[in-house]
Amino acid sequence: MHKKKYFSSQSLKDLNTFAIDVTAKKIIFVKTIQSLIDISKICQLSNIPYIILGEGSNVLFLENYVGVVIINRIKGIKIVEKKNFWLLHVFSGEKWHNLVKLTLNLGILGLENLALIPGCIGSAAIQNIGAYGLEFKDVCQYVDILSLRDNTIKRIYKNSCKFSYRNSIFKDQYKNEHAVIRVGMKLSKKWRPIVFSSLENYITLINITAYKIFNIICKIRKKKLPDPKKIGNAGSFFKNPLIKKKKAQKLINLYKVPNYPQKNGLVKISAAWLIENYKFKHLQIGDAAIHKKQKLILINKKNATAQEIIKLAKIIHKCILKKFNILLEPEVDLIGASGKIKASKIFKLNSKLKVI
Ligand SMILES: Cc1cc2nc3c(=O)[nH]c(=O)nc-3n(C[C@H](O)[C@H](O)[C@H](O)COP(=O)(O)OP(=O)(O)OC[C@H]3O[C@@H](n4cnc5c(N)ncnc54)[C@H](O)[C@@H]3O)c2cc1C
Repeated sequence: MHKKKYFSSQSLKDLNTFAIDVTAKKIIFVKTIQSLIDISKICQLSNIPYIILGEGSNVLFLENYVGVVIINRIKGIKIVEKKNFWLLHVFSGEKWHNLVKLTLNLGILGLENLALIPGCIGSAAIQNIGAYGLEFKDVCQYVDILSLRDNTIKRIYKNSCKFSYRNSIFKDQYKNEHAVIRVGMKLSKKWRPIVFSSLENYITLINITAYKIFNIICKIRKKKLPDPKKIGNAGSFFKNPLIKKKKAQKLINLYKVPNYPQKNGLVKISAAWLIENYKFKHLQIGDAAIHKKQKLILINKKNATAQEIIKLAKIIHKCILKKFNILLEPEVDLIGASGKIKASKIFKLNSKLKVI
């Protein structure tokens, strides 16, 4: 077996950005695909649950995990130059932001809008991360997944990944007993800037460069978002709701709510705006609170428990439904004692009502 670290019933506090103080029976760091195969095999044979994590920046552990938490540190980056574009082949344990910095330093442009998003490459694909008008799917070429049942590797090309807003086939068909091990990305040599509406106040299009966009985005994010090293959080707790045009128009007329019409005819509504405009007064449950500068982010001020975070989230969920008739859906993955828990078990997510 390859070199790896073993711990016994160790705290996960430093391995989830919410900084929830829970434990796992075992925490194992893996650096190779073979280690991942070996460990998952042992777990399967011994009937022990296991879960793969990257940086733990999109999870909320609800209680102590009774199984093995496998921390993916499988690394490697290969860059191939073609006449009109660059191809990146990146292993899933690489950090996303490091890739953004590395490519820009090499003069390979196109990832700058996704600067400073925490987490690993594998999760970026699973989650179809996005920010400032760009999503992972826009640069994806393929995703390689390993079946932990029979150790086969399958390449899923972009068009079969079923990418949508913070979603992909890896959260559905391939969510169990599969690991994302590698992704392929394609970046054109003909760079064009993506200046999302919220960037317009900060950027002039004259002499715009990818480096300027990168720097501005890093500056805005550092100012607006809590640094998980200092304040526990997992970014946006809820997704921005996608609602039908007619319903959106009513909300726009009533409240002038920021809205983003989508190609599929639905309209994306800013969940942060909904929470901000509910005007919660000093809402805090234990050490769980709403981040002042970005209301979609729930924070662990010091020693919050997952139950406190959930209680807070449930209050927000209920109030937004009551005032705006919108059901917010968690973006964060909820992890129970032996695995992922469907958000609908905790939050009311009537699929008929979800797209209103
Ligand atoms: C401050 C802050 C800002 C953020 N800003 C953004 C943003 O702008 N846009 C955005 O989209 N997201 C944002 N996020 C959310 C988060 O960074 C992303 O969802 C990120 O992709 C999660 O990566 P991770 O490696 O930490 O995933 P983890 O939390 O470790 O895992 C997430 C899920 O993927 C599974 N998983 C992880 N790796 C693998 C693998 N290799 N194979 C199979 N399953 C796996 C896990 O089991 C888990 O269910 C933010 C988070 C924080 C804390």
